[in-house]
Amino acid sequence: MVIENNPRKPIFNKKKAYLFGSPVAHSISPKMHNLSFDEIKFNATYKAIDIDKIHIDAVDEYIRREDFLGANITMPLKTDIISHIDRLDISSELSGSVNTIVPENGSLVGYTTDGAGFIDSLGEIDENITDKKILILGAGGAAKSIIVSLALEGAHRITIAKRHNKTIDSVIEFSKKVSEKTPCDVNVIDIGDSTILREAVTENDILINATPVGMTEDSTLIDKSLLRPGLTVCDLIYEPAMTKLLLDAKECGCKYINGKYMLLYQGARSFKLWTGQNMPVSKVKNTIFS
Ligand code: NAP
Repeated sequence: MVIENNPRKPIFNKKKAYLFGSPVAHSISPKMHNLSFDEIKFNATYKAIDIDKIHIDAVDEYIRREDFLGANITMPLKTDIISHIDRLDISSELSGSVNTIVPENGSLVGYTTDGAGFIDSLGEIDENITDKKILILGAGGAAKSIIVSLALEGAHRITIAKRHNKTIDSVIEFSKKVSEKTPCDVNVIDIGDSTILREAVTENDILINATPVGMTEDSTLIDKSLLRPGLTVCDLIYEPAMTKLLLDAKECGCKYINGKYMLLYQGARSFKLWTGQNMPVSKVKNTIFS
């Protein structure tokens, strides 16, 4: 009661979580996390704050405060945020990407939950990555996080199919680093070489599209004739829910999944890091993802 009369002291010490990036207005993360906080009666709120690369210093005002519970980082800040925090876990260090900040014993630690979230999402189609040979199209931020998690979590071999352009050397460097620091062998092929790409699709168990191809147009990087039952096809795109690649995969009898559940499970991983508790995934699925 005494506290209630003092306007400067809140009754409860509500913790604050954020999503930083730009644009963030249409993100479903605030809905997902606020519903989860309410559901487990965790005294916190989650808010999306639009911050672009030029104004990234503004993040410091939020993440250094006492009431800071944690944050998600999205495009275009996933790499630039690294200089604003104190240390990185191994997935962030290897991928060069941070999508989650967690305050731990007075310092701010960067994690990436994108890759683990992707692996978790495969449970939705009864798939797992243990000892699997995996072909991933693209080598951007999402691909790198997934590659690192696949390599740390037991994939047998990863092949990155990438355009032969100015970023090829850095991606080859990245593949060597992951091969050295994990038990998994990672190699890079030229996505423009149709013979090599054809062989790669034939030899692998799981195919992942981590490029934006298929998002705005009815196109795919993989010819339908290469798809077969027994190949699992994943597209990180979730809008549209069925890209041309996934429509082809369905017709060819492949297991397939889009990026919707990766979004859910990366959020669930972040939630666990901040609260120590499991996200009420079924409730979130039924309320927001159905
Ligand atoms: P990014 O960093 O911009 O990387 C995009 C990658 O795609 C690059 O390697 C780029 O190749 C490649 N690429 C683009 N156009 C291509 C084309 N026509 N042919 C061949 N390769 C092409 O993007 P990102 O953040 O990794 O995101 C990639 C995709 O994943 C997007 O569709 C995004 O929406 C989706 N995503 C989904 C989730 C989820 O939760 N479901 C999370 C993150 C991202 P170069 O290296 O040659 O430039």
